[in-house]
Amino acid sequence: MKCDVVIVGAGPAGIFTALELVRKGAPREIVLVEKGRPVQQRHCPKAQTGHCVNCKPCCHITTGFSGAGAFSDGKLSLSCEVGGELPELIGADLAQQMIDYTDGIYLEFGADPHVEGVGQPEKVKQIRRRAIRAGLKLVDCPIRHLGTEKAQEIYYAIQQYLEEKGVQMLFGADCEDLIVENGRCVGVTVHRAGDPGKDRQEIRAAHTVIAAGRRGAGWLEGLCRVHGVERSSGNVDIGVRVEVRNEIMEEVNEVLYESKLIGYPAPFKNKVRTFCQNPGGFVSQENYDNDLAVVNGHSYKETKSSNTNLSILCTHHFRVPFDRPIDYARKVGELTNMLGAGHILVQRYGDILDGKRTWQEELSRSNLRPTLPDAVAGDITSAMPYRTMTNIINFIQAVDQVVPGFASSETLLYSPELKFYSNRIEMDPQFHTSLPGLACLGDSSGWTRGLMMASVMGVLMGRRLASEGD
Ligand SMILES: Cc1cc2nc3c(=O)[nH]c(=O)nc-3n(C[C@H](O)[C@H](O)[C@H](O)COP(=O)(O)OP(=O)(O)OC[C@H]3O[C@@H](n4cnc5c(N)ncnc54)[C@H](O)[C@@H]3O)c2cc1C
Repeated sequence: MKCDVVIVGAGPAGIFTALELVRKGAPREIVLVEKGRPVQQRHCPKAQTGHCVNCKPCCHITTGFSGAGAFSDGKLSLSCEVGGELPELIGADLAQQMIDYTDGIYLEFGADPHVEGVGQPEKVKQIRRRAIRAGLKLVDCPIRHLGTEKAQEIYYAIQQYLEEKGVQMLFGADCEDLIVENGRCVGVTVHRAGDPGKDRQEIRAAHTVIAAGRRGAGWLEGLCRVHGVERSSGNVDIGVRVEVRNEIMEEVNEVLYESKLIGYPAPFKNKVRTFCQNPGGFVSQENYDNDLAVVNGHSYKETKSSNTNLSILCTHHFRVPFDRPIDYARKVGELTNMLGAGHILVQRYGDILDGKRTWQEELSRSNLRPTLPDAVAGDITSAMPYRTMTNIINFIQAVDQVVPGFASSETLLYSPELKFYSNRIEMDPQFHTSLPGLACLGDSSGWTRGLMMASVMGVLMGRRLASEGD
């Protein structure tokens, strides 16, 4: 197969590349390679079974058209201070300008015009005052909340638009390798997802764009090593998903929707932060190809639970001689999965402080009912590195000063929550990598960590390709 542009990964970064190329009217043959399914065929069976069945060949939560965006909470962070390090590469002004432009595209495709987290400056001041006293930084960021079900509708509309405009989408196709000839990337090899022996083909293209998301970050890291694409080891985030009753988070939920708090707790002074807050939301599970089960969270626009969940992430940075942070985080995850017999582990905060595991029957004694029913009660501290666990405990104590009740005994901590964006691809502001013909985008490039910033990177890539000749 031959085309002008081959894009691997139909997450926000990949689809906004194709979308902007089409919108700019550039006459380009575009092939989008995606190992998962079209968005309307993505259904997590857990809604029926009540537990994760570890779908093969791929997890519906993270693969398919719109990538990890389909079952996400669909919170579009509208400030360039949030969502990754892309502003360091392209400049904060351009990043903000592109966020506003990209937000306009989401609105065109049906996003809710309402923006959360603005309009109550006095209440924000009060929350910030408490954060300052607790030694935490509060980043307030306007948020457009799509909601999980609406996000799927919006991405379905984008999928239909791309189909109408002639973008060829190869679903169920797993990209295996890059084709490199005379020091230039000239395409990719693919095979049927889950069956390396079937439907093998080469897709040759003038431009190859890899946008494989967090789940593809380890795979991309391997390709970089094989083909000598310059990269560096960035940070890896390891943490927990915390769940409390809505009553505890009421003020913050109402005023900010999402409280982005950052701290550097003693004794290690590592960066620890809250991330992905879901008022009235549900804790969820995503599975990686190697059967690693990782916790996450989302919320619907209409259906609400009695709980709020958010993640607390500790940033880990390694120095020589170690440069495999993704492997490090994966090992922590595997150990936790092993203790939970393949399930997500959950433990009450009070039990952690008391040095005891949580028993399943103890979960029903609280005000708080877990929204991930197949999580297994146990002892997350047996798998969590000492440094990470200490950071989390001390950070929770600090957040308790901002959100009284956050450090209650019944507060639930689910593990493992891991964010794999530590493989940082070296590139210039136009996203040229050290391998001519190859560009890498979105979370797998290590420069973004959210829907909006990944979409922005795609828009910029689409513009570059539209303005360039072959
Ligand atoms: C449950 C959940 C909730 C979230 N909530 C939010 C939120 O509210 N707000 C926010 O900003 N972010 C949220 N995120 C994160 C957000 O979804 C990601 O940051 C974003 O989707 C990254 O976009 P991407 O295009 O870089 O990668 P992805 O969306 O991960 O897409 C990558 C795509 O590449 C495909 N792929 C990977 N490898 C290959 C291969 N070898 N061959 C073919 N295809 C391949 C995958 O199947 C996938 O579809 C959430 C994520 C999850 C899982």
